[in-house]
Amino acid sequence: MTRIIPLLKGVPITGSDGALGWSSVTLIQNEDEIILVDTGFHGNRHHLLQALKDNRIEPDEVNRVILTHLHFDHCLNYDLFTKASFVLSRAEYEYVKDKKYLEVGDVFIPDILERIENRGLVVFYNELKISQDIRCLLTPGHTPGSSSVVVDLPNGDRTGICGDLFKYAWEINLLPEVPQGTFGDIRELKTSQKMILDMGVKKLICGHDRPLSFQDKNIVFDETGDCEITLFIDTNSSIATNYKIKLAK
Ligand SMILES: [Zn+2]
Repeated sequence: MTRIIPLLKGVPITGSDGALGWSSVTLIQNEDEIILVDTGFHGNRHHLLQALKDNRIEPDEVNRVILTHLHFDHCLNYDLFTKASFVLSRAEYEYVKDKKYLEVGDVFIPDILERIENRGLVVFYNELKISQDIRCLLTPGHTPGSSSVVVDLPNGDRTGICGDLFKYAWEINLLPEVPQGTFGDIRELKTSQKMILDMGVKKLICGHDRPLSFQDKNIVFDETGDCEITLFIDTNSSIATNYKIKLAK
């Protein structure tokens, strides 16, 4: 039976000195495969390892890693998954291979494509059917090759795991003119967002927010979350100031 486990929940946070990149990492498991959608980055690597351990999964047991796009905060822990093959859209592959990202000032692409190719890379054009109930779809906009994963769960809930097509839940309601950090075509972004919402997804996992459900057209977070920021402010001691932020349901 296919199930989805949010291993790392995205945190809707940014700072005055730039993005923190606390992104979501999601596990999909069925009878045949253990699949990861995105892998986070070095800053949350130990949390990812712990989350896998909590679910009694060794990194070597992951068969497939689907990368929604190649921004650092979604792909940098790829090296943990030594037995996995990787999935990427053809458009994202070309965006990086042909260094098109440099032309649009996209500084968030790490130099890992060749190493992923050496691990075994599957690229797809518009759609890749992984199984009867799991599909990768090209949903360009955030980057020209951004993709989403749509899963039809046994209880009928269709779930979209959309990377940064929607970074935060508030973008779903407000559909900002140009969301922060858009490197693809803005019209394509709107079309992709509409396509995913029109597919009747019951649940959505955004790139940088908690898993949510649509209930009577309202957005409801599936669970609360905590986030803690620590600032080392004092110059005469190592006393840290902790800010705990409760993310409401
Ligand atoms: Zn991101």
